[in-house]
Amino acid sequence: MKIITDQRCAGYSCEGHPERPARITDALEFLRGQNELPVVWAAPTGVDDATILRAHSARHLARLNEPEDFDADTPFHENIITFARASVAAALDALQAARAGENVFSLMRPPGHHATRDRAMGFCYLNNIAIAVLEAQATGAKRVAVFDFDVHHGNGTEAILLDRPGCAFFSIHQFPCFPGTGAANVGTNCFNYPVAPGVPRESYHATLVRALGDLKNFRPDLVAVSAGFDAYARDPLADGTLLAEDFHWLGGELRALNTPLFSLLEGGYSRDLPELIFAYLKGVDGQ
Ligand SMILES: [Zn+2]
Repeated sequence: MKIITDQRCAGYSCEGHPERPARITDALEFLRGQNELPVVWAAPTGVDDATILRAHSARHLARLNEPEDFDADTPFHENIITFARASVAAALDALQAARAGENVFSLMRPPGHHATRDRAMGFCYLNNIAIAVLEAQATGAKRVAVFDFDVHHGNGTEAILLDRPGCAFFSIHQFPCFPGTGAANVGTNCFNYPVAPGVPRESYHATLVRALGDLKNFRPDLVAVSAGFDAYARDPLADGTLLAEDFHWLGGELRALNTPLFSLLEGGYSRDLPELIFAYLKGVDGQ
């Protein structure tokens, strides 16, 4: 398993904010300390503006330098653009690794799936996964799928990829919940699987099975995963009911597609996040 990470992504914070540096530092400590899953560590390289500007407006990219909060959830941080670009770079490196046949995970922050073309929101500044999908399409991918199992709807990814030929978006999320979208399918290629708050674990699982079936029927040649671990039963931000073994199972199901696959960390705010990531990665690794 290749894990792309850079401890420097822990270098910004806001007192009391759930999207905190310990999400990464605790996961790093856990993954470095285990010996069940062999890990090849890599640091993110870089990204040029043109690659980012496939998904975002020039105005948005410039706005990330302006020292003013984006909304109550999404503060301005000194050098946030540098942190956001490193997270994008890790996503692009993960894409390359997937194409080279590697199992790969990007363990970075900030997350990205709420960022739209013109707006930072929901702890997200640049849409890592959408930028990687557009790069994949620009470099030969014919059928790219995004599978987003974060408990929140990936509204930014949906908005950026909406009705684009050759790609599809599958999102399983709690509804109603932040950001308020994702109640139904949108356009020709965005498929939403809303789950009511607090549904029994079996129903959440059944919805994931349905989404995985539709993902498979799309016959992707590349799968990009927005891996959020906040549908976990003890996550403080939502009312999901999944357990670590469900994330392990999800990893195994995605592996079984037998298609180049890369996963990026999105949400996940419980103290058990390291164990949840580990369970998922073992599944992706075939353990
Ligand atoms: Zn989330």
